[in-house]
Amino acid sequence: MYIPEEKISEILNTSDIVDIISESVILKKSGRNFFGLCPFHSEKTPSFSVNASKQIFHCFGCSAGGNVLSFIMKYHGITFPEAAKMLAVRYNITIETKGVDPAKKREISLKESLLRLNKTVMTYYSGELKNSDQAGKAREYLEKRGILGDIIQKFRLGYSPGSWDFVVKVLKEQKISKNTAVQSGLILKRKEKAGYYDRFRNRIMFPIFDINMQVAGFGGRVMDDSMPKYMNSPETPVYNKSRILYGLHAAKQHCRQEGFVYIVEGYFDFLSLYQHGIKNTVASLGTALTPDHVRILKGYAPRMILVFDSDAAGISAAKRSIKIFMKEGVDTRVLVLPKGNDPDSYVVKHGEEAFKKLALKAKTVMQFLLQVSIDTHGLSVEGRINILNDMKKHLIVIGDSALRSMHVKELAETLNIDEKAVLEKVRDQYLSHSSKRISLNDKNKDEEKLASDRREEQMISIMLNCPEIIDEIKNKDVLDYFYSEKLKRIGKKILSIDSNKEAFITDVMAGMENTRDQELIASYAMDDFFSDKDIYKTAMSIIQRIIRVRKKQENTLTSKIISAEKGCDSELMDLLKQKQKEIQQLHDRI
Ligand SMILES: [Zn+2]
Repeated sequence: MYIPEEKISEILNTSDIVDIISESVILKKSGRNFFGLCPFHSEKTPSFSVNASKQIFHCFGCSAGGNVLSFIMKYHGITFPEAAKMLAVRYNITIETKGVDPAKKREISLKESLLRLNKTVMTYYSGELKNSDQAGKAREYLEKRGILGDIIQKFRLGYSPGSWDFVVKVLKEQKISKNTAVQSGLILKRKEKAGYYDRFRNRIMFPIFDINMQVAGFGGRVMDDSMPKYMNSPETPVYNKSRILYGLHAAKQHCRQEGFVYIVEGYFDFLSLYQHGIKNTVASLGTALTPDHVRILKGYAPRMILVFDSDAAGISAAKRSIKIFMKEGVDTRVLVLPKGNDPDSYVVKHGEEAFKKLALKAKTVMQFLLQVSIDTHGLSVEGRINILNDMKKHLIVIGDSALRSMHVKELAETLNIDEKAVLEKVRDQYLSHSSKRISLNDKNKDEEKLASDRREEQMISIMLNCPEIIDEIKNKDVLDYFYSEKLKRIGKKILSIDSNKEAFITDVMAGMENTRDQELIASYAMDDFFSDKDIYKTAMSIIQRIIRVRKKQENTLTSKIISAEKGCDSELMDLLKQKQKEIQQLHDRI
């Protein structure tokens, strides 16, 4: 459903964040803000705050934050239009879909028909499993695998009969258009003659739900050794494989409670774990995990445990997935099961407690990669050099310098190689891969950078709390001096919004492109540590400091170039000169 922008502002301006949030969180007033226990992370003392005049919330514990719409989305696990609709109903605001562009309208109506169709077919498949004689072997198969009736019911498992036209007939009965059905992937057009046939035949059916509990697609498994063992719906307008994880609709609350999520591969892995009480689990269904998957999961659990079989296929799948998790900066562990087990067989054999105990031994990503590399190369002199070459590629991906140096140390100890030598290797890798990170180990510069980031954060905070400073920031091009690209981008977005309006912060928030940016805005807007009286003065001195530090950096660069010239490090010199040119261009504009 598409909702026009003016409707969104109407909803935001009519609704009251304190009213809405206090329906799900007990709030107490303290100073300018309301405080309560955060619904998004577990805590004993309240760090979740709501500000009525700014209409924002922010958690000082887990950094969740945003406006009333972001709260509803996060709390109920629903989409933006759904959240808007929910508020509109509550405040008697009518949302008309009139005036919507016809192409968009067609798209919406196709999606709605596909979801309706999937739901209908799910009901039929599920009825077959329960009642038809033909499904006898399917019921036996599920029983043999230990899947109980209430799990079959909860996840709406079904059976697709062996005939070629079961779904085709259902469609006729229900008067559903063939065209829609073809787009759903449930039926296919015959090649040789006219007519259609069912995609799924004689299989146990697993409806794949999206986060809003709607049936996005299906998976089907044979009950013998015929191939393909599993078959899934193709990608459709409602089934986006790079975003949907099997079971998340049921697991989301449990992921929040436990603070982490197990990621397994198959339907039966998921169902078995769930049935054994390990409900904070999702399944990737054998498709490679994507950054979207990881980002979606991050909204429910800060930590993730990848569970894999110990065979070669499992190890290589783990290695592929890990890259995505490292890039997304998530706390990830890898649990490789003992030989000959998958999550399903392990939990069936050993039970919930044994599985959880095993999970405590899950390796960090680096430990896992190191183990795989040791298993491949062995610990001879040559082997250790190969391991070092493997590991340096992984080490440079780690953004956090403290964490990186910890891993360098660990690696040096395991391989019994001098830490400096390891560091040297990693530095080489850096230089050949990234032109931006010139100095890996330049501690002073890192610290200076952190200090500047803090000033830049304060600057953003002041822009939100004292819009009078905004002209000064425009005149001096202060944002161009920012080190942090992220804060620069956010700052520019703030400058583009009319700061004279009453609803300035609401507008800024609505203009942010993603949840993370909204959270940042909420946290900076909530930052009340400047007293109103001297905020302008403080702002001016921070502006001067930001500009001065950048100019000082220019001088430092010049001296680095001189010493690089002496040391004949031409690559480094080019990089430094490039940097100097950029800074010069910046200053020429002032
Ligand atoms: Zn929190």
